[in-house]
Amino acid sequence: MTKRVVCITGGANGIGESLVEHFAKLGDVVHFFDKDREAGVRLEGEQVKRGSSVVFHHIDVSSPEEIKNGFQAIRRNHEFLDVLVNNAGVSKFKSFWEMTPEDWNSIISANLSSVFHCSREAAGLMKDKGGAIINIASTRAQMSEPHTEAYSATKGGISSLTHSLAITLGEYGIRVNSISPGWIETGDYSALREIDHSQHPSGRVGKPEDIARACRFLADLENDFITGENLVIDGGMTRKMIYEH
Ligand code: ADP
Repeated sequence: MTKRVVCITGGANGIGESLVEHFAKLGDVVHFFDKDREAGVRLEGEQVKRGSSVVFHHIDVSSPEEIKNGFQAIRRNHEFLDVLVNNAGVSKFKSFWEMTPEDWNSIISANLSSVFHCSREAAGLMKDKGGAIINIASTRAQMSEPHTEAYSATKGGISSLTHSLAITLGEYGIRVNSISPGWIETGDYSALREIDHSQHPSGRVGKPEDIARACRFLADLENDFITGENLVIDGGMTRKMIYEH
């Protein structure tokens, strides 16, 4: 069986790092993009040492030019791409009153425009054979705290972009879905308080692997009837009513 070729953006840290490890463990060839060179080189080295096929590309996904170069590098090694996970993004929050036009544009281009540009480049490599695109959105697309306008707008945008792309790319056998993670702890899980976990009907805060397993499910060809969908993975947190007794 030929190996799947997978591309993950923002793969050097956090959820993305877990995605790289997860797909590499499945035996896929994994290319990942990140602007964090140090962490990218380290992760690539660790994975290669384990015998996995993992390749790091130092790319800023805010730049359509750099994105093009990244996918050209993948094309030089493979004729096709099976899976793209658009995970790169910044969790940047700035006061509503202080956000400059530059701040706004930089968040939109890193979190949202990148998804469009990466998806189009990837679709060019998928359209002969079909494939799966998975976009990492957020529960913050549906609910917010004060001063999260730009971030929330990008995540809401990703959700709309997902179903729009699913319609356009359906005829090529390319499925496009999104995942909305809730609270996912990428740091020291043991440092969390009991109350952090108890806010979740699941009784715990999420782990990066919870998102990785869902990506695996959506990428799986057996699930080829699922497209244009958003999967909320938040331990039920956004379903919970706040009610004072
Ligand atoms: P999370 O906890 O949601 O996984 P992180 O900040 O840990 O968030 O991970 C996001 C990843 O995306 C980081 O590795 C970061 O370097 C990467 N990233 C953010 N912006 C860009 C960008 N413009 N280009 C490439 N990678 C990016």
